[in-house]
Amino acid sequence: MPDNIQHTLKTVFGFHEFRAPQREVIEQVCDGRDVFLVMPTGGGKSLCYQIPALHRDGVAIVVSPLIALMKDQVDALVANGVRATCLNSSLSPAEVGRVFQQMDAGTLDLLYVAPERLMMPDFLERLATLKLALFAIDEAHCISQWGHDFRPEYTQLGRLRQLFPNVPVVAMTATADPETRKDILKQLGLENAKVHVAGFDRPNIAYTVIPKHKPLAQLASFLTGRRDEAGIVYALSRKRVDLVAERLRAAGFSAAAYHAGLPDQERKRVQDAFRRDDIRIVVATVAFGMGIDKPNVRFVVHYDMPKSVESYYQETGRAGRDGLPSEALMLFGMGDVMTARSLIENSDNAERVRIELQKLNAMVAYAEALTCRRRALLAYFGDQREQGCDNCDICNDPPQRFDASESAKKALSCVYRVGERFGARHVIDVLRGAKVQRVLDLRHNELSTYGIGADLSAVEWENIFRQLIHLGYLVQDFTRYGALGLSPAARPVLKGETQVILGLPRDVARTEEKSRRKSGAGEGVHRALFEELRALRKQIADAAGVPPFVVFSDATLVEMSKTRPGDMRELLSITGVGEQKLRKYGTAFLDAIRAYCHGTA
Ligand code: ADP
Ligand code: ZN
Repeated sequence: MPDNIQHTLKTVFGFHEFRAPQREVIEQVCDGRDVFLVMPTGGGKSLCYQIPALHRDGVAIVVSPLIALMKDQVDALVANGVRATCLNSSLSPAEVGRVFQQMDAGTLDLLYVAPERLMMPDFLERLATLKLALFAIDEAHCISQWGHDFRPEYTQLGRLRQLFPNVPVVAMTATADPETRKDILKQLGLENAKVHVAGFDRPNIAYTVIPKHKPLAQLASFLTGRRDEAGIVYALSRKRVDLVAERLRAAGFSAAAYHAGLPDQERKRVQDAFRRDDIRIVVATVAFGMGIDKPNVRFVVHYDMPKSVESYYQETGRAGRDGLPSEALMLFGMGDVMTARSLIENSDNAERVRIELQKLNAMVAYAEALTCRRRALLAYFGDQREQGCDNCDICNDPPQRFDASESAKKALSCVYRVGERFGARHVIDVLRGAKVQRVLDLRHNELSTYGIGADLSAVEWENIFRQLIHLGYLVQDFTRYGALGLSPAARPVLKGETQVILGLPRDVARTEEKSRRKSGAGEGVHRALFEELRALRKQIADAAGVPPFVVFSDATLVEMSKTRPGDMRELLSITGVGEQKLRKYGTAFLDAIRAYCHGTA
């Protein structure tokens, strides 16, 4: 059996090796065991039920929450010559009838269904008469109220374990939080399942956080070097999303907006165009989420700070599913923290407010961290690392530290002088001796601290205040618009008894430059051939009415442009080229590679 699954891995999917823990999971499911699989996005969960579906008798039933997700999975399987289809509300009665026929005739390996359809009594009855290979439950956290994406239609799935005692169930999620995981097992009745929790690291994603000054300009400068790449820009409000998308389009970028306020049709159009590489950049609220299975998203930008580390990690995780170098960039400003706080504190539910504030604080701490970003993220999920990662802004360009005792003293005493009743912006105005109306109205220009900080720029002061808050010298009262107050720890600083060591403000341009990773396709010589292969892929995909990644992944095209296979045998040895795709596309791609090599020889 093990040799068998290895054979299937290569001939059907075109892959040479299993990733951890795919082999073990597949063997267990083939043996009829229940499995609960926790693996980060892009880890390779699909193979864990797709290969058993091919090795066990009968049809495998796959539960998936979104039609778009199902469709991509089915297209990808069919491209590999697997007999798969889906059953959802978009099918006509005649189409449904055809699927039923295939099920009865035993000519299907995998059937994707929406949960509400699966649990309909007559459908369950139909299944009871058939041989079933397994049940696979994708996005299993949707069953848990604890999770971030509860879907009532998932609740019923808990009955499957009892209704079909002899059919193995594979439940999958990328959810990191242990409470939710426990709840999923309970809800699905999978107490006896083999549990696999894969590591949460996504080593191919480079994390960068930069201070937010002129976000539109910063974003445009980031995007300019990445015009051919696909990416997502997340912003918090619909209004902001519309604005950013419009500005990007005006600046000549291929960008579109996506949020819950747009008509269904428009959302669908944007999502499809993005999948087909017709639109490069989607500017979106969190509403643009689970439906994106696109493996070649090269960057995710957070234009605004997300509300929790969980959401941040999940959103950045949409980059680089194909394993190629990808980027996560966050713009972080003090204003964001204030907005997020006030939104949270609007709620009447005290317990919720408390939890959400904690989550927000963790997010802020991450953004302000002066240690490796990946270490901070993984530590948050309970995975402690000893070493830096070499693939984040902090590792690439460690912040310098400086003795900020004098500045800290000025800052703290100015907070005190204005009566601990004002936010950072105003205190900075006073420190810098700004002649703004508000300062004059309040006669704060008469304070002893007026103008004592004119030697530093507003940006430098912001950096200092942020760290003073972060280190606990200052507290921000969010019920009073972020008014700053002194904490007990401020006292010894004011008296000159403690030293305050802070990180030097980072040179934004330099940070961006240093952490700029080579984008997915590699460089120079390979790049030109890659572009040609990419164009060929797009042509083939459009003609077949599927997204380009269904034809070949970026990773496969990169390998082709590097190794330049000369015949079918060499082409087959490339990752992602299975026998079906070799037959269908082999000649076209070999011709393109040959023509290119002649052209440049
Ligand atoms: P998940 O569902 O966990 O987010 P997928 O199953 O969609 O991840 O897999 C992510 C990507 O990794 C896909 O492009 C898939 O083809 C690829 N992949 C999965 N397993 C392997 C493997 N063993 N070798 C090479 N690529 C793989
Ligand atoms: Zn790092």
